[in-house]
Amino acid sequence: MAIHFISDLHLAEDTPALNQLFLDTLQCWQGQLEALYILGDLFECWVGDDDDSTFLAKPLAAMQQFAIYTPLYVMHGNRDFLLGEGFCQRSGGQLIADPTVISAYGQHYLLSHGDALCTDDHAYQQFRQISRSQIWQQAMLARPLTERHAIARQARQQSEMAKQQNGLSAISDVTDSAVTRLLAEHNWPTLIHGHTHRPAQHLHQQAQHCAQRWVIPDWHDQQGAYLRLDASGLSSHPLPADSAPK
Ligand code: MN
Repeated sequence: MAIHFISDLHLAEDTPALNQLFLDTLQCWQGQLEALYILGDLFECWVGDDDDSTFLAKPLAAMQQFAIYTPLYVMHGNRDFLLGEGFCQRSGGQLIADPTVISAYGQHYLLSHGDALCTDDHAYQQFRQISRSQIWQQAMLARPLTERHAIARQARQQSEMAKQQNGLSAISDVTDSAVTRLLAEHNWPTLIHGHTHRPAQHLHQQAQHCAQRWVIPDWHDQQGAYLRLDASGLSSHPLPADSAPK
């Protein structure tokens, strides 16, 4: 048995191949895992638990089915931070806080989406703070669904434009200081996060302390990936399982 971690699938109406890969993957893993953690940005956007986009029906039903057999934990990402209790009911998933510490196979693991660690992006951190407040969220959720969809489309266009202009800019990566602070706060566990779309393993050291940081690969084009944790530790794997390693 193992625990699997995925993040940054960014599922949307216009990602049919990835949506299908998610369905196939859940079916393949059903009843085979100790737990599945989705560490943020499962969806490209989530405008509220009343979101009635047609493409959502299948992934939510597949999650429901999966969660009958296996605990399914979901963390907010920077795109789907409005996932709420209604989503839990529709998906069978349980929302977990960012960050969350788990113990598994005799070790501590600190789970985070990762956006809070990108502290050089001041404009984003400011938006993050405001948009995670109850007052902002209540005001947003009070808007009609069509209006919320329009706002999400606009935000997505802006972010696409920024990505084309800047590529993977340095401010969209985590900072060493934020990582070190978080690791120190939690007594130097292994950190697992996504968000940056820079899959890698890092080592962070300070004085006598040392911790690993694993960055979960994002899903894009027709390819996915996951981290597997078992008694022998962490490892990264491509999806579909028979596709060539990246
Ligand atoms: Mn993200």
